[in-house]
Amino acid sequence: MSDLLEGIFVDPISGRQCFLATDPLLGVAHPNCPELADVTVELDAFYCRACGWNGRVSGAWVMDVVRERSGTNGAEATTSS
Ligand SMILES: [Zn+2]
Repeated sequence: MSDLLEGIFVDPISGRQCFLATDPLLGVAHPNCPELADVTVELDAFYCRACGWNGRVSGAWVMDVVRERSGTNGAEATTSS
């Protein structure tokens, strides 16, 4: 649960820990670079124009994080108390 909100994942190519940012822009914060990498959800990939970082991240997971953070989980959650 909290993993989704924290947005931390390990890039399988570099083995380094990265962070998914969704606000205000969707992007991946990665080590040794001040820029956010562009995420291509359809390709399960992210790429940074500033440093050339080319990484992999699950597009489905990215969408889960976006959904979780945008707080629209009430739409599909069936919490009938
Ligand atoms: Zn970079």
